[in-house]
Amino acid sequence: MRIIKGIGGFYYVTEDDGKAPRGARMGAASRCYECRAKGKFRKDGIKPMIGDFVKLADNNTVIAEILERKNELVRPAVSNVDQVLIVLATENPKPDLFLVDKLILQAKLANAEPIICVNKTDLADAKAICKIYQNAGLKTLAISALEKKGLGAVGQILKNKTTVLAGNSGVGKSTILNTLGFNSETGDISKIGRGKHTTRHNELFKLCDNTFIIDTAGFSILDIANIEKNSVKNYFTEFEGYNCKFQDCLHLPNTVCEVNSAVSSGKIAKSRYDSYLKLINAIQGV
Ligand code: GDP
Ligand code: ZN
Repeated sequence: MRIIKGIGGFYYVTEDDGKAPRGARMGAASRCYECRAKGKFRKDGIKPMIGDFVKLADNNTVIAEILERKNELVRPAVSNVDQVLIVLATENPKPDLFLVDKLILQAKLANAEPIICVNKTDLADAKAICKIYQNAGLKTLAISALEKKGLGAVGQILKNKTTVLAGNSGVGKSTILNTLGFNSETGDISKIGRGKHTTRHNELFKLCDNTFIIDTAGFSILDIANIEKNSVKNYFTEFEGYNCKFQDCLHLPNTVCEVNSAVSSGKIAKSRYDSYLKLINAIQGV
């Protein structure tokens, strides 16, 4: 049982045990229950959230227990997220690589796997962008949602996972969702087999058993204000191969260090290094 939506004190809970289905049950309709949270949660200061695996009581009308969360995201407020599919476009809008790098860091901090999805390959080549992120140790996909190219790979990536869809507006997130089988604007989800809903962004969509997806309204998956400046470099996988003489080295420009040389020689992508500098500068304190 899993919470997929919360409105005005009611929680909507779908049948799902969070385990990979044995048989092929793609698109299987699930029942959905309207529930209240047990009174003791409020007393204990616990608030059920979208994504929670729960146990129900009283004929499936009350959330009696919330199972331990793997993680919690801030925006969208959702728990138990496995991965963040970061969508960008080759063109229109132009890639915002800083936003992508920030989302990667936020996903990693939230203990979710960032995956890069470059859309609109019909407008321009995606190879250079994919290379940057492959060097950063990430899975990358190059697709054209418009021409329905590469969507099979997207489906495979989503299977048996809970995914947050993130990225600038206009990059093609709704188009991807639509081609995967539902309309996030109107809420037509033939596969879930239940009533319409009118809002976007605050619901976990069930694609099939154990496969969920949620669209982000904003870009802030997690608050990065509280991390230490010195730990940011640990989330830039491609810096790892370069051992600086100075253990505390922040790899700032003008310091003689291996990471800096790798940026100069093009072994580390300049865009990634620039994002890194911007991120550590945005963090107050040490
Ligand atoms: P969202 O804001 O991220 O949800 O983006 P949308 O899905 O609304 O797409 C924004 C615009 O990009 C729409 O006009 C889509 O038709 C268009 N679009 C989406 N995918 C592609 C694609 O693969 N190629 C091209 N050329 N346009 C696309
Ligand atoms: Zn250094």
